[in-house]
Amino acid sequence: METSSREIIRCTRCRLQQYMTQTQRCRRCSGDLLPPLPPEPEQPQSSQSQTITASNLMASRLRLVRRCRHFSQPEMAERARVSQQFISVMERGRSRVTLETLERYANALNLPLHVLFAPAPQFERFLQKQGMV
Ligand SMILES: [Zn+2]
Repeated sequence: METSSREIIRCTRCRLQQYMTQTQRCRRCSGDLLPPLPPEPEQPQSSQSQTITASNLMASRLRLVRRCRHFSQPEMAERARVSQQFISVMERGRSRVTLETLERYANALNLPLHVLFAPAPQFERFLQKQGMV
């Protein structure tokens, strides 16, 4: 493989694209020529094609626990002192909920926050202990 000195890089000052020079200085302006950033480390591939984000995971768990508790959205809204609209948005993983609201919501479900964010087996054990599955 060729040495990295043949890689095309861009001057950080004047943006001129060029090959790396011996001095690691720009041919035009003598600015620093930074070597290209190393490639991002590979993320471990999930077997699922769809990415599970924290808010998606949280949303689906909150919806599951609410249904297991047999709370309707209006009932839940009252218990957690949030709007029904908020619940429906949050349960679709679309809201930027504050920690304070999240805590109040989880409390209303009798769901400890650490369980909400626990790895799946721990979350499932919680559901089992609560007789929810
Ligand atoms: Zn330059």
